[in-house]
Amino acid sequence: MDAYKVIAGEAVCSSQAGKFLERLVNDFPGRQCGTAEGIKAGSFILDSFRTLGLNVRREPFSFPGYVQEDGRVSAGIYDEKGAFRELFSCRTRTYIYSPVGHFSGPLAVAVQDGLASSQNDAPMNIQEGAIVLSDRMLHPKLLHRKISAFIYITPESAGGGRYTASIIDRLSENFISPLPACSVGNQDGRKLAALQQRYPHQIKVRVVTAASSAGTPFEGANITAVIPGKAAGACSSKEGSEEIIAAGSHYDSFSGVPGATDNGAGTAVLFEAARILAQLAAGKPNKRAIHFISFDGEELGLLGSSFYVKRHENELNRYRMMVNLDCTGKIGPKRLRVHAWPEIIPAISRLTAQIPLTGEAVGSWYSYRSDHFPFWRQGIPTIYGYDGFQPLAGGQHTPNDTLDKVIPDGLLSDVIITASLLYLLANADELPWNRRNPEEMTGVFNEYGILEESRRFADPGVCRTGSKYNSQH
Ligand SMILES: [Zn+2]
Repeated sequence: MDAYKVIAGEAVCSSQAGKFLERLVNDFPGRQCGTAEGIKAGSFILDSFRTLGLNVRREPFSFPGYVQEDGRVSAGIYDEKGAFRELFSCRTRTYIYSPVGHFSGPLAVAVQDGLASSQNDAPMNIQEGAIVLSDRMLHPKLLHRKISAFIYITPESAGGGRYTASIIDRLSENFISPLPACSVGNQDGRKLAALQQRYPHQIKVRVVTAASSAGTPFEGANITAVIPGKAAGACSSKEGSEEIIAAGSHYDSFSGVPGATDNGAGTAVLFEAARILAQLAAGKPNKRAIHFISFDGEELGLLGSSFYVKRHENELNRYRMMVNLDCTGKIGPKRLRVHAWPEIIPAISRLTAQIPLTGEAVGSWYSYRSDHFPFWRQGIPTIYGYDGFQPLAGGQHTPNDTLDKVIPDGLLSDVIITASLLYLLANADELPWNRRNPEEMTGVFNEYGILEESRRFADPGVCRTGSKYNSQH
């Protein structure tokens, strides 16, 4: 493949990815969807794609806003006289879309006891009304338990309790989850766990969660840029029938979180791949169109990608593949991760044989935690890039997700893989797979046990707040 050599040469010689990343992270740290910083970051991305000579568009959507504030957790016991004695208290970070208020209950610790042996296992044996303290990410099945609150112990101590996450429930009014949730720093979490060990039947905990702007209509925006295919050519009326390869990556982060690895890196890879491919296409147009989408609101619960899929519902039959870039820029062995669709792996292996990947070059994988999910849920095959590891990582979703965590070599190799992959997908004579129909998807949801979750997590249409929060056309 000559194009591979051209792509790799261009990526190595004049890489813009690092410069783009630096500007995005330094100028727009804390670009949470719907905030002033988020809106400014969207404009920067729009302007950047415009410099490539691409057809760019801002696609706004409105949603129930939520700005998280610090809260508190305190723990103590009742003495013989019935008086409450506080033994410990610390600052917490409220999860986005957590109910706001004071919540109390006995402490149940899910640390190191096998309560949740992996992210995909539902935590077991939790007493009703308990406040669950865990070093595992919140499992969606916990939402349905009768527990009082969830406290996540972050892996890091520095900036204790600054970890942010969302607990969105699209079936609830204003997306507010039924379960209050917050995070604490690692040392604080360990102290709470130690108190529970010392007073296993007596320890009581009180959690205070706080937010501003909950329920206020906010606006987010996806940014799209298109390299038209051969069919469109000079005659733009043909654009409506050509096949599309989509490449997506979220640009939003959280307030106070620079988001260099999550997901400044993916945004930079997307931009640099678009720059290289736009140059190539200027000489020789691709067979299919390539649509680059910078999603907003991923961190709040896949908002931008869900709205995108809804807005483009009538064109989805033309989408032949979606490539998602989230937390890219890692180093080490790389593979293309085909999302929950093992049948198409052989075809993708053949198509991408010339891209130098290591080990298991194309693998099967499953998660509902990023922007591929709304596309996959609609029956479109998706590839998620690309594994590897981050030697300096550990600050994801905290103020410590800074530029120094991104390894330039990882960024470069992901630019080359992404641009090559998109080029091959856009120019293959045939892509031997079809969109899954709704019946097939129901079968797949059942296979993965996510019939309910797929509704709860991915469809903006079920928001009960009514038309004012629906996608704007
Ligand atoms: Zn992310």
